[in-house]
Amino acid sequence: MCLPNIKMINPKIKFLNVTKSYDNNSKNEVILQDLSFEIYAEEFVCILGPSGSGKTTVLGLVAGFIKPSSGNVLFNSKDIIRPDSSRTLVFQEYALFPWLNILDNVAFGLTTKNHKNNYAREKASEYLNLVGLSAYEDHSVSQLSGGMKQRVAIARALAVDPEVLLLDEPFGALDQQTRESMQTELTRLMTKTKKTVLFVTHSVDEALKLADRILIIGGKPGKLLFDTTIAATRPRDLNNYQLVTIRNKILDKLSQPDLFMGSDI
Ligand code: ADP
Ligand code: MG
Repeated sequence: MCLPNIKMINPKIKFLNVTKSYDNNSKNEVILQDLSFEIYAEEFVCILGPSGSGKTTVLGLVAGFIKPSSGNVLFNSKDIIRPDSSRTLVFQEYALFPWLNILDNVAFGLTTKNHKNNYAREKASEYLNLVGLSAYEDHSVSQLSGGMKQRVAIARALAVDPEVLLLDEPFGALDQQTRESMQTELTRLMTKTKKTVLFVTHSVDEALKLADRILIIGGKPGKLLFDTTIAATRPRDLNNYQLVTIRNKILDKLSQPDLFMGSDI
């Protein structure tokens, strides 16, 4: 007999009929409408969609910065009411503090978590080691390349040991070569730390390389248009037949005229 997989019974994150609207110039604009999906523990989920389709809003809802207008966003079966260290966010632009050195940037979230400074620094050091930047503890932010800054941002987000890591186009500002090495690095880190990940990207190939599952949000207002699981092992060859088939389906979805596409897909 096959026992049900516990990870599949209790979703880590659940969107239940979520609608989000904003008041823009006294006009109520519905951004996300009736969005329902579940994300399970340790899944690496990539979210694709045109600019303005509400991807950052989805991450904001999970982070707890944004409240749904109706419906529920649940984390471990409870409504998300505020941001906390169980769900941390990495932005496209390196949100590091230029007045702190690299170690203190990573220790930042830990010191505000009522930990003693020594503990925070030890933890920060451990996570800098994890992203391969031990030699840069004393450096200033301006001494680091773009890719290194994003590794620091990821180390900082991981150092508080979140259950869910939220990444909003984290490699969008990097050159192609750095981006590819960061993708490999992130795959390694996630296999090791076993986090649940929501990763927003504009790149179909990046999603195909990284994701256990790909969601597409699009349309006006934004709805879930596509949800597929990718079983291929990593590292992935994007010429693999399964990935080529999924890629074609995604490109087909993204090219539908009613999608109000941004120009950058
Ligand atoms: P994406 O990340 O897919 O580009 P966003 O979630 O950032 O999309 O934004 C979706 C839409 O919601 C956009 O049209 C944006 O202008 C609007 N929007 C986002 N945040 C706010 C806000 N705080 N107030 C008003 N409108 C907003
Ligand atoms: Mg966005």
